[in-house]
Amino acid sequence: MFDSLSDRLNGAFKGLRGKGRLTDADIDATCREIRLALLEADVALPVVREFIKRIKTRAKGAEVHGALNPAQQVVKIVNEELVGILGGETRRLALAKNPPTVIMLAGLQGSGKTTLAGKLAHYLRKQGHAPLLVACDLQRPGAVTQLQIVGERAGVAVFAPHPGTSVGDGSAPREVTVSDPINVARDGVAEARAKQHDIVIVDTAGRLGIDEELMRQAAGIRDAVQPDETLFVLDSMVGQDAVLTANAFAEGVGFTGVVLTKLDGDARGGAALSVREVTGKPIMFASSGEKLEDFDVFHPDRMASRILG
Ligand code: GDP
Repeated sequence: MFDSLSDRLNGAFKGLRGKGRLTDADIDATCREIRLALLEADVALPVVREFIKRIKTRAKGAEVHGALNPAQQVVKIVNEELVGILGGETRRLALAKNPPTVIMLAGLQGSGKTTLAGKLAHYLRKQGHAPLLVACDLQRPGAVTQLQIVGERAGVAVFAPHPGTSVGDGSAPREVTVSDPINVARDGVAEARAKQHDIVIVDTAGRLGIDEELMRQAAGIRDAVQPDETLFVLDSMVGQDAVLTANAFAEGVGFTGVVLTKLDGDARGGAALSVREVTGKPIMFASSGEKLEDFDVFHPDRMASRILG
């Protein structure tokens, strides 16, 4: 994960090894290297600027710490600041006082929403919850079937629009309008309530790029089901565009947390390192492969340690 960034950062610290004392010039030179490493990894420029400023101030003002040599001290500061831009603490799901907890997934097509829906449902089931997956991606051909397959693998029920669907609200089975994901979302939550599911995960449609119709639809679903958590699903392989996409979703739909997907690929790290600072929303989960188990709660400190090797 983020191999090139790790190599570049470790290279930046090399010049400090063996030094008994660090001059301001040493720190400036190292910060230049760190800056280049972050820019090359596609970290957003304002995030890089602020990061470097903090490292410089802290490194120059650092008290000599008995147990650490100067190089180790700088690495420690960089590590702490990395944990900071990754969000500091792990943020857990906020469960509703009155179940079901509604979790809505939003993001571009191909970001990994449907795959993630299955992983999240599987994870929550293992934690003793009874989730219901709701298929509201009626745009991408095959998305509903894909969610049904994923749900089956995860051992989790799926509410999908098909003729004659019982909506579980006490009324007779009626047809769900296939073209209206907002109705499906609403009926999905009613189904969860009727069948004692304590968590509802709503998979929504994405587009290849940001567009108004997509945002309107996602906002409509949000208004209909009033999610307790809206998770923005972000493909970590996306470079500079990650920030634009995140901002567009923050503005158009709003979200409470971020899920990073495809961390098993050769992502450079920019999306992961920028999204928290740019949006102010925590990264909550990390997804890193095709298997249901390739998924975990996001731990900023572990991610920072991995980056610094
Ligand atoms: P959606 O359009 O947002 O629902 O995206 P999908 O869940 O269909 O994922 C798009 C593609 O990315 C599929 O081929 C998935 O198998 C793949 N994918 C999703 N998550 C991951 C991941 O964490 N790692 C890898 N390597 N591939 C993933």
